[in-house]
Amino acid sequence: MNPYLVFVVGALVAGYLLELVLALAGLRSLTPDIPAEFNDILDGEEYGRSQDYIRATTRFSLLQATLILPLTLVFILAGGFNSVDILARSAGLSSIPTGLLFTGLLVFLNFCIQFPFSLYSTFVLEERFGLNKTTPRTFVLDLGKTLLLAVLLGGPLLAGVLWFFEYAGELAWLYSWLTIILFSLFMQLAAPVLILPLFNRFSPLADGKLKEAIINYAEQQNFPLKGIYTMDGSRRSSRANAFFTGLGRLRRIVLFDTLVAAMNTKETVAILAHEMGHFKKRHIRKMMLISLAQTGMMLYLLSFFLHNKGLSAAFSMQHVSTHAGLVFFAFLYAPISLLLSLFGNALSRRYEYEADRFAVSSSGLAEPLITALKKLCRRNLANLTPHPLQVLVHYSHPPVLERIRAIRAYAAVRED
Ligand SMILES: [Zn+2]
Repeated sequence: MNPYLVFVVGALVAGYLLELVLALAGLRSLTPDIPAEFNDILDGEEYGRSQDYIRATTRFSLLQATLILPLTLVFILAGGFNSVDILARSAGLSSIPTGLLFTGLLVFLNFCIQFPFSLYSTFVLEERFGLNKTTPRTFVLDLGKTLLLAVLLGGPLLAGVLWFFEYAGELAWLYSWLTIILFSLFMQLAAPVLILPLFNRFSPLADGKLKEAIINYAEQQNFPLKGIYTMDGSRRSSRANAFFTGLGRLRRIVLFDTLVAAMNTKETVAILAHEMGHFKKRHIRKMMLISLAQTGMMLYLLSFFLHNKGLSAAFSMQHVSTHAGLVFFAFLYAPISLLLSLFGNALSRRYEYEADRFAVSSSGLAEPLITALKKLCRRNLANLTPHPLQVLVHYSHPPVLERIRAIRAYAAVRED
C-alpha cells in the first residue's frame, strides 16, 4: 500500500478519535451543581439550560464528524479527486485557470456537505437556546458576500501561489510567502474600512457617561484614540464581545451593541482595559508574526511534496499537478497544524492572563472585570467546567473560573 495513503488515512482517523475522546471527556466533566463563584448570577434553571446547550452542541459536532469522516475516506479511496481534476481539465483552460477551477469545484463540494449542518446549527440549535438572531435573509446575504470575497481576494492570491510554484523554480515558497505577508498586511488595513462594514453597521458611540469614561481611560494610557464604535452584533447573535481593529491611524475600538446593553460603565471599561492590555503588550502583533513564520515554514515544506508522484498516486491521480499537490499537502500537514495550534493556544491563554493583569493594574477595576466575565459567560452559555484536555487542545482562553481566581489573586497582591 502507498505509504502516503496510509499516513493520510491514519491522520484522518486519529483526528476523529481525538475529537471523540475530547467530546466524551467534556460531557463527563459537566457538573450538575453551579460552581460557587456563579451562585450570585445564575439560578438552577439557567445553569441547567447552559448544560443542555453544551450537551446538544457537543453531540451535534460529534454527529457531524462521524458523518464526514466516512464521506472523506470514500472520496479519497474512490478517486474523487481524480474525477474532479478530469472535470476541471475538460474545460480546456491553461494550467492556472484549471487549478482555480479544480479548487473551486472542491470548495463547492465541501460547501454542499457543510451547508445542511450550518443551517441546522444556526436555525435549530442556536435558535432553541435563544442565541440566534440571524434572519434567513441575513444568512443568505452573508453567504453571498463571503463567496464574493473568497473569489475576489482568495482567487488572485491562490492564482499567484500556483503561478510561483509552477514557474518560479526553487524559491517559489519564498515568493509565495512574501506575497502572503503583503496580503495579510493589506487585510489588516482593509478589514475595518472595507470588509467589516460589508457585514455589520458601525456607528460612533453616543455621547454620555460611557464615552467619557472610555476617553478618560484611553488618555490615562496615552492611547491615541481614533474612534469608538458600536457594532450591531445583535443582527446575528445575542453573544457579546469587544475588539480593537485596524493598524496605525485607522485603529478603532469596537463594542458590540449587545455588550453595551449588558454591562454597566465600569464593566465595559474593564473589558476595554483587557483589550488595551493585548494592544500594549503587543500580543496581536506577536501572534501575527508567529502565524506568518508558521506559514513560511509550511510553504517551505510544501515545496518538497508539491510534485511528489507517490503523494499524487495515493489519491489515485492520473496527472501530477501543482493545484492538486496543494490540496494533498494540506492532508499531510494536518497533524503538524494540530501540533502548532497546541502551542498557539497555550500562548494565547498566557496572553489572556497577561491582559487581565494589565486591566487590573491600569484601571483598578478587578471586581467589575470579574462581574463582566461572569455576565459574558451567562449570556454565551459558556462551559464553566471544561475538561483539561479540551482546554489543552481547543481553548484560546483559560477557563473562566481559573481566570477569575487569577484576577482575585493578582488584585490581592497589589493591595498589600
Ligand atoms: Zn483577551
